[in-house]
Amino acid sequence: MHPATSVLDRSKVRRSRSHVVVATLAVALAAAARPAPAANWETPAAGPSTSGGPEVLFTFDDGPATKTTAQILDTLAAHDISAIFFMVAWRFDKGGEGAIAKHRAMLRRVLDEGHVVANHTMTHAQLCKGKPEVAEHEIVHARVVLEREAGLPVPWFRAPYGAYCNRLVQQVEDAGIRHVYWDIDPQEWKNNNAKATEKYVIGKLKKLTGRAVILMHDTKSATAKALPKILDWMATENAARAKAGKPTIKVVGATQWARELVGEDVIAEAHALADDALEALAAGLASALP
Ligand SMILES: [Zn+2]
Repeated sequence: MHPATSVLDRSKVRRSRSHVVVATLAVALAAAARPAPAANWETPAAGPSTSGGPEVLFTFDDGPATKTTAQILDTLAAHDISAIFFMVAWRFDKGGEGAIAKHRAMLRRVLDEGHVVANHTMTHAQLCKGKPEVAEHEIVHARVVLEREAGLPVPWFRAPYGAYCNRLVQQVEDAGIRHVYWDIDPQEWKNNNAKATEKYVIGKLKKLTGRAVILMHDTKSATAKALPKILDWMATENAARAKAGKPTIKVVGATQWARELVGEDVIAEAHALADDALEALAAGLASALP
């Protein structure tokens, strides 16, 4: 190597080394200023309590199923509770026309009864494994299918198994959707044990102080059986708490939570659009009458 070039290279190396030192310091300072990087999705999953007392948000994953989803909807209606249903979108694309029609009817019922439809991928894939483009398709295509079926935006998303990795965090951000994790997980998808589910959830609710998202599965008979018991317990417990002047356990309706996140202005705009569509429909019907 020519000596002149060598000197030049050495000075370049020195300069670039000092850049590295400065950059490393900057990164270290930024890390000190910020909290340590998260190892999991943020909790509490739906933010802090707005009432100051204990609050719960009910979420149901993996459906819609035919029998158990219907039972859960009956129970929620009896207690006047709206929930979030994280659906796997293959149910609207595969399994034969008969099954698809049933799943569609159930999604319609979920919406008609005031619940929120959310995205739980196409095939319940583990999104932190395998190729990034496969994971992206699972998220983005499920959203397309669910929005087609619901006729509404579906910006809420939950990773199957609660999978967490930097790649997925970035994909969720790129897709412009919101991940919803959970705080109370009775694992009834695994044991399908109604009694154990009831006991676990009630045990957590007794001690609850802030806001918690409860994760259950509308595909499981244990869930359909445990839910009425949990809600009956809550009603009795709340009556006792009210009598004693203690804060009751409040249910955060899924639509209330969606409103908190989306903002009232966007909701008002959506209403205006719906009103316009209804007006156009009414005008069309009127013109068709003799
Ligand atoms: Zn799931």
